[in-house]
Order: sequence, then structure tokens, then C-alpha cells
Amino acid sequence: NNLFLRGFMILLLSCITIQLNFCISSIPSSLKALHLEGHLSFDEVGLSQASRDFGNRYHAQPMALLHPKSVSDIAVIIKHIWNMGPSSQLTVAARGHGHSLQGQAQAHGGVVINMKSLIAPRMKVYAGELPYVDVSGGELWINILHETLRYGLAPRSWTDYLHLTVGGTLSNAGVSGQAFLHGPQISNVKQLEIVTGTGEVVNCSEEQNHELFHSVLGGLGQFGIITRARILLEPAPTMVKWIRVLYADFTAFTRDQEKLIYMENAFDYIEGFVIINRTGLLNNWRSSFNPQDPVQARKFKSDGRTLFCLELAKYIRMEETHAVNQEVMTLLSHLNYIPSTLFVTEVTYVDFLDRVHTSEVKLRSKGLWDVPHPWLNLFIPKSKIHKFAEVVFGNIVTETSSGPVLIYPVKKSKWDNRTSVVMPDEDIFYLVAFLASAVPSSNGPDGLEHILNQNKRILEYCEGAHLGVKQYLPHYNTQDEWQAHFGPQWEVFLKRKSVYDPLAILAPGQRIFQKAI
Ligand code: FAD
Repeated sequence: NNLFLRGFMILLLSCITIQLNFCISSIPSSLKALHLEGHLSFDEVGLSQASRDFGNRYHAQPMALLHPKSVSDIAVIIKHIWNMGPSSQLTVAARGHGHSLQGQAQAHGGVVINMKSLIAPRMKVYAGELPYVDVSGGELWINILHETLRYGLAPRSWTDYLHLTVGGTLSNAGVSGQAFLHGPQISNVKQLEIVTGTGEVVNCSEEQNHELFHSVLGGLGQFGIITRARILLEPAPTMVKWIRVLYADFTAFTRDQEKLIYMENAFDYIEGFVIINRTGLLNNWRSSFNPQDPVQARKFKSDGRTLFCLELAKYIRMEETHAVNQEVMTLLSHLNYIPSTLFVTEVTYVDFLDRVHTSEVKLRSKGLWDVPHPWLNLFIPKSKIHKFAEVVFGNIVTETSSGPVLIYPVKKSKWDNRTSVVMPDEDIFYLVAFLASAVPSSNGPDGLEHILNQNKRILEYCEGAHLGVKQYLPHYNTQDEWQAHFGPQWEVFLKRKSVYDPLAILAPGQRIFQKAI
């Protein structure tokens, strides 16, 4: 009897295994049978590229890569996977420019959608009153800049680096030095077209399907794929006056930053960064930034002191140069920086916005671009920024040679709390971004292990000191951590997921939900 039972069990198990293998191997053929305007590819080179990102630390290989030519291609694939039901393990990740840091645009064994191949509809600028541009979700911001400039217009809010896609930055927030004035990029979108996790194509805005509209903005790709976006524009400047000044006193630095973000018609861009244990700084800047007082500037030595650099920009629109120069000098006279450290340069608007790409070209030529990037981005409430700076810049971070450490305040009133993005609970909060590049195989302070350990210490300190800090471009390993990140917004996030992507097909690389929830 026992022997019979054992034999039966073995037979049953092998049947299940054969059936499972059959299911898995038949998935590509069921995908291959779909009618698409674009195409699916299964070649090793493409799949291996889709398993990499800018962070260069997480690698999950998909089973197929979709190169869509139309929105309908994306809808067909998702609907097909949705129809397979919860027993299929297939997931879908939109991949913009793949500049995530921890595998957020990857889908292990799933389908990755190469959003950059979705070029339809073509970019279309509306140049009338309240101008805007309609773009594909896979469009790069740099292309949008060049296209809109042909009409003398440009988007109002940017990221520091423009070789990122619309869908990729709108899934996070899109924050840069213009955010104090216009809010993040997600505050500058009028309309979206979305393919939801059930394969439906939906138009949404403040007025139409507003719940989906707000869910997707800052939604980490969890509720739908952004296939088209309508982005607000403003008249573009031609030139930019770009200014850097230094502070040794953190209180004076933040006081000036906070004063500036409330001044009307003052600057168009406000950021800042921290300099720890560097020497020869002023020499490094001389090639692009001219000191206002060269004699005094030459005498200034950073000598390894911790310094805070305020970075400002004032846009110049046609023949205003003289007036802008005077205005800038008046504005600067209200600030408390170290007088000999006023550095000014004037560049074209395109050169200003595309500044990080210039560094990219240099780093690529030295083989230093495709290295691991253990970045840490935090939103810190204004009331806690001094405590944070004292401990983190005083004890934890001992030098900033691995990459810039940005620090600048934004106003919460410019952010929409109906979107999915998570912010601290205060009217002003700071973005503090540790943007390190790890030197491969180094065991020193510029090595991956050291930087990751430093990030861990920063996070542990924030947690232990109850600073109310939130991660930007968040990354967690457990659902409990995600729940803590979202706090009171978790229930809403969960409910939205159950409506727009009930099988948890989308953006598995964020590791918030597992298919099926
Ligand atoms: P991907 O990495 O391809 O995707 C990111 C996430 O969005 C994934 O989960 C993906 O599935 C999802 N996604 C992608 N496209 C879509 C879509 N169409 N619809 C729905 N979901 C989608 N961020 C800032 O806010 N400010 C900065 O100044 C800034 N500077 C940066 C500088 C550099 C050099 C780098 C590498 C990153 C920077 N970032 C900045 C972060 C950047 O905004 C995010 O990493 C962004 O997600 C990258 O865009 P991407 O097109 O490469 O997205």
C-alpha cells in the first residue's frame, strides 16, 4: 500500500513539474503570438542590458524585452499577462533611461518595456496662453528642452541631469533648484495617459480620473505606465548668471537659503552643497567660475574646513544683462557669505541645464561613469536640519571626494499632497543627496563597502534620533519598512494598488509588492 502511495506521489509530482515546465517554456510562445506594432526581443545582449542600471549594484534579468511602437503594444502585453491570472509569475517593468539606483526598473524573469522606443505621439508644443508640450512617457528631458526651445519655451521644473525620461522622473518627483519656485516636476504636469496594471488605457488629469492622476505622480511605477504627459512650459531665458558663494557657518548658510526661497522675483534656481576636507577648492573652480575679487579669493584657503556652498542662478531673457547684473548684486548684498568667495559665471541656458552631462562626458572618458553608485537621498524637516548636519557632517561623513553632497530647502506648499510622493511633515524640508561614486575594488573611503556603511550609519542615526526623515528615491527590503516609509499614506497607497494593479504586475523592482498581493 505504502509503496503504491509513494509511487503515486512521485508520478503526481513529476506531472506537476512537467506541466510547470511546459507553462514556463510556453510563455515566450504565447507572448510571441501577440500582434504588436513594435516587437519583443529575447536576445541575451538586450536582456543583459535591461538587467543593469546606473546604480550598478542590482542585476535581475528579464525573460523578454518589449520595444513598443504604440500605446496599444504596451496595453496588449499587460492585458495578456493580466488574463493569465495570479498563478503566472510574469511581471512588467517600464524602463526609461535605466538610471535607477537599486534595480527599480528591472523585472526578474518578466517583461521589461524599453520606453524610449515609444516615440509616438511625436512631441507637440502648444505655444499659446499657458503653453505646454505633449510628450511620450519615454522621452528624454534633454530632447524636450531642445524641441521646446525652438518655440522660445521650456519646462519650468527640472532635474540636475536631463538624460532621464519623463516617466522615470514623474514616477519619483523630479527635484532640482527650480523646485522652490515651481514645485517638483510632478507639480508641473497637466495630463497623463496611463496603461494600468489591467491593460486599460486611461487619460487622467485634475479634472478627469483624478485619483489615477495623483496615484501615478510619485507612484514609483506601481499604478500604471505613463505613455504620454502634458508638461507646462514658460518663456525660456537665453543666458544664465550662475553664482557660487561659500559659508563656514551652517546657520548663516541655511538662514540665507531659507530667506531666498521666500523672495519673490529673486533667483530662478537655488541649491547648495557641502565641502568636507577638501583643499585647493578655489583653484578647481577658476576655469569656469570667476572670483569677483581675485586678490582676496587667492588668499582664501579651505584648509580642510567644512564649507557650505550656496549655488544660485538668475535667468537672463533677451537684452536684460545690465539690469540683471545690478539686480543680482543687490540681492547678494543681503546675504552673509564669506565676502572674498563670490564666484560668478555666465553661460547659455542649455549649458546651465545640461551641466551634469558635461561631467558625464569627462567621467566616461576616464572610465569612471559605469561604476557602482551607492546614492542616498533624504528629505529632512527644517526643524531637524541643524541636528542632522552637526552629527552627519561633523562625525559620519569625513570627506566629500567620492561625489557631491547636495543640500537645499524646498517649500511643501509647492508639492501636492494628493500625489503618492512621501514628504516630511513640515512646511519647509531639505533635500540632502549623497551622490557617491565607488571606485571599483577599493577598500578605502572611496570603496563601495565604506560608502554603504556610511549610508547605513546616516540612516541609523536618523531613525534613532527620530528626525522624521523620509527617503527620496526610496529603497527598502521589507514591506514593514515600506509601511513605515509611507506612514499614514500606506492605506491609501495599498487601496490604489488594489484598484489599478490588483495582481501586482507592475514595477516589481521597487520591491514593495509581490505578485499577487
Ligand atoms: P528608470 O530608472 O528607467 O525607471 C525608474 C522607475 O520608474 C522604475 O520603477 C520604472 O519601472 C519606472 N518607470 C520608468 N518609466 C516609466 C513610465 N513611463 N511609466 C511608469 N513608470 C515608469 N532625480 C531628481 O529628482 N533630481 C535630480 O536632480 C536627479 N539627478 C540625477 C542625476 C543622475 C546622474 C541620475 C543617474 C539620477 C538622477 N535623479 C535625479 C534620479 C532620477 O530622477 C531617477 O533615478 C529616475 O527614475 C531616472 O529616470 P529613468 O528614466 O532612468 O528611470
